[in-house]
Amino acid sequence: MKRMIFSLVILMFFLAGCAGQPQAANGGKVQVLASNEFLADLTRQVAGERAAVSSLIPTGVDPHAFEPAPQDVTRVAASQVLVINGGGLEAWLEGVLANAGGQRLVITASQGLVARPADDAEEHPEGDPHFWLDPLLVKTYIANIRDGLSQADPAGAQTYAANAEAYLRQLDDLDAWIRARVESIPPEKRLLVTNHESFGYFAERYGFTLVGAVVPSVSSSASPTAQDLAQLIDQIRQSGAPAVFLESGSNPELAEQVAADTGAQVVEGLLTHSFGPGVQDYIAMMKWNVDLIVGALGRE
Ligand SMILES: [Zn+2]
Repeated sequence: MKRMIFSLVILMFFLAGCAGQPQAANGGKVQVLASNEFLADLTRQVAGERAAVSSLIPTGVDPHAFEPAPQDVTRVAASQVLVINGGGLEAWLEGVLANAGGQRLVITASQGLVARPADDAEEHPEGDPHFWLDPLLVKTYIANIRDGLSQADPAGAQTYAANAEAYLRQLDDLDAWIRARVESIPPEKRLLVTNHESFGYFAERYGFTLVGAVVPSVSSSASPTAQDLAQLIDQIRQSGAPAVFLESGSNPELAEQVAADTGAQVVEGLLTHSFGPGVQDYIAMMKWNVDLIVGALGRE
């Protein structure tokens, strides 16, 4: 019996070795560009060694306000595969693709997910694009990335399937970790006030109430009116929300004003769209956010 298990292990190593050999197009790695950092990380998790993956939008740059420069068009032109979030997050895409010319596979990571409607639906008919703040919705991202990479590089299909499978288990572990952490906050204290309307999917998944947002839009590039701010101040007072979460890269002024008027605390550093110091992958980003939220709301 022992010998049989030993042989099986050897066989598995052999098979894993075969599957891991780079046979990508153009004699090298598949050149993949992702529109932002967390998509680049998710793509690397699936691609393993078979692809060279980079992020178009750098750390700390708000994707809602991103304006591509000529060198960004050059990078898109050089890519074989482009991974985007979809759902209206990449408003710049059409122009860049037209300018880049050529052919590439575009993987829309959120394809197949049903968006929450935006409060400002006229401005954002596609709804809320922040699916990735719910790790169980990211499972769809992983499946789409796996299928897209397999289409671009069929020789790697087995590798992509195995890597995706392993990462889906990590997403389940992350979901369980978040649930356990969130349980320490009584449901009536799970009150979120954020800079813009980004945590809707997260709130739905983990039983939070969205009290309001400083910028009442699924895009951070909108501006609140005086009436919007007055309404938010009322909502914070009525709900007793203790914190206004400021997303990294956003302007603190309005949040500070709202906090001063309500006695709420400004909590900085929520990582909505990109990574931060010491937080260099999607799972770390989610854990960082949950620690920040639980730390601020779990207090007596
Ligand atoms: Zn956003």
